[in-house]
Amino acid sequence: MSETTETIFSKIIRREIPADIVYEDDLALAFNDIHPQAPVHILVIPKKPIAKLDDAESQDHALMGHLLLTAKRVAQQAGLTNGYRLVINTGADGGQTVYHLHIHILGGRQMKWPPG
Ligand code: 5GP
Repeated sequence: MSETTETIFSKIIRREIPADIVYEDDLALAFNDIHPQAPVHILVIPKKPIAKLDDAESQDHALMGHLLLTAKRVAQQAGLTNGYRLVINTGADGGQTVYHLHIHILGGRQMKWPPG
């Protein structure tokens, strides 16, 4: 997939395409993944269109912390009291397919290690 600033996630932020949104604030949005890989599979994204983790800069310091704390908050909201996994696929070898930075929250089943 090519890297562009405009992705399907920008359209979700702008409500141009539907998504099952579970959390929103000024900086972040969280919605259910369309192809869930676990009983709970939620994506947390910044509203700022950062393509991938490698593109985050020092000015994004607070935003990156906010995304992690948002992931924790959303996981708790989803009832994942027995644990969960956060994943940030980055670039081609990382398996990233949508080039708008996102944190996967996966939970509701026992995760395995190593991942594929
Ligand atoms: P990546 O492979 O880039 O780490 O993850 C992209 C994720 O976005 C995938 O898990 C995929 O199922 C999800 N996804 C792709 N398009 C859409 C969409 O239109 N809506 C939702 N809710 N999720 C999507």
